[in-house]
Amino acid sequence: MELLPPFHVATPGSIAAAVAAGQDHAASRFIAGGTDLMVNLRHGIGDPATLIDLRGIPELRHVSAEPDGLVIGAAVTLAELAEHPAVASRYPAIATAAAAVGAPAHRAAGTVGGNLCLDTRCIFYNRSAWWREANGFCLKYQGDTCHVAPTGKRCHAAFSGDLAPALLVHAAEIDIAGPGGVRRQPLAELYAEDGAAHLSLAPGEFLVRVVVAADPWPASYAKARARGAIDFPLAGVAVALRRSGEEVDGLRVALTGTNARPFLLAGTDALLGAPVSPAWLDRLGRLVQKQVSPMRTTLLAAQYRRRVAAALAQRLAATLGGLDAVGRAA
Ligand SMILES: Cc1cc2nc3c(=O)[nH]c(=O)nc-3n(C[C@H](O)[C@H](O)[C@H](O)COP(=O)(O)OP(=O)(O)OC[C@H]3O[C@@H](n4cnc5c(N)ncnc54)[C@H](O)[C@@H]3O)c2cc1C
Ligand code: SF4
Repeated sequence: MELLPPFHVATPGSIAAAVAAGQDHAASRFIAGGTDLMVNLRHGIGDPATLIDLRGIPELRHVSAEPDGLVIGAAVTLAELAEHPAVASRYPAIATAAAAVGAPAHRAAGTVGGNLCLDTRCIFYNRSAWWREANGFCLKYQGDTCHVAPTGKRCHAAFSGDLAPALLVHAAEIDIAGPGGVRRQPLAELYAEDGAAHLSLAPGEFLVRVVVAADPWPASYAKARARGAIDFPLAGVAVALRRSGEEVDGLRVALTGTNARPFLLAGTDALLGAPVSPAWLDRLGRLVQKQVSPMRTTLLAAQYRRRVAAALAQRLAATLGGLDAVGRAA
């Protein structure tokens, strides 16, 4: 790792002051726990003159269960989120995803906003500056060729945050602050399928809070990773499944770790109106395999990640749908 480049730290105490700091310092980056950004800076990725620390803004530090939904401040830490009584009891997928991030020290410092705005990852990118330079850099930063898909024109680095899918299956919305004020939008619209520009935030904009509906469907989250104690997801899946009697009448599946963005699986409506059965799970697995597009961005084979994503979705849906792990009625 390199020495950290010199930078100035701004510590705004309000949303308005953070917006103003973003305008005053053109070459600035927002920072929260720093568990992703500082590693990148030590790798020579980015050279911001100013870091704007969002953790001193009181509105960003709370989780509250309101009548119309759960409100999660962007600077709430993952440990606080996982342990919050309302989250642990009513939103187990969110608590599980937060508790599955890295190691305890990452969860004590890492925040909801930092996790949702995490940089994308690739074995040709998360490297020291000298390693990347020796390899001619790459399309995502400082170079012009993608080593994963050399004939292509876009970056396939994978978004690997754990929290996004668990929030997506609860139809989460986010508040974004910036020079134009505060606006609300679906979380899904934050992301684009381009590893070099996967966030739709305009310059000077930052995440203020996440809002999740008050009447959550039953949901769970699971991830596959190389090292169980501490690792990014090779594939992470959240499933929310609502039943009316035996039939599935609501289904959302969201994925992370396989594409440049976390995304909601399309076409799940075709699985409504039927009970979860082995044949139903086969159809779900095929839908997942069709829509994920893992590339050679991790040490594990893309085909493994494709298959494990489908298997995780099937396993979660089976349990939520009342079947045991081998597809019998539980
Ligand atoms: C060894 C190791 C293992 C890890 N394992 C995992 C893992 O298993 N799963 C996982 O999901 N992550 C993992 N991480 C990544 C990281 O620790 C977490 O994702 C953490 O939640 C990032 O949050 P942060 O507050 O530290 O982000 P920061 O590092 O502060 O910021 C990350 C990015 O988000 C931006 N940002 C921060 N807050 C905001 C905001 N409110 N609005 C807009 N932009 C913002 C920053 O500008 C930066 O680009 C790991 C990291 C390490 C070093
Ligand atoms: S996918 Fe290609 S462009 Fe993107 S980080 Fe990896 S090598 Fe670079």
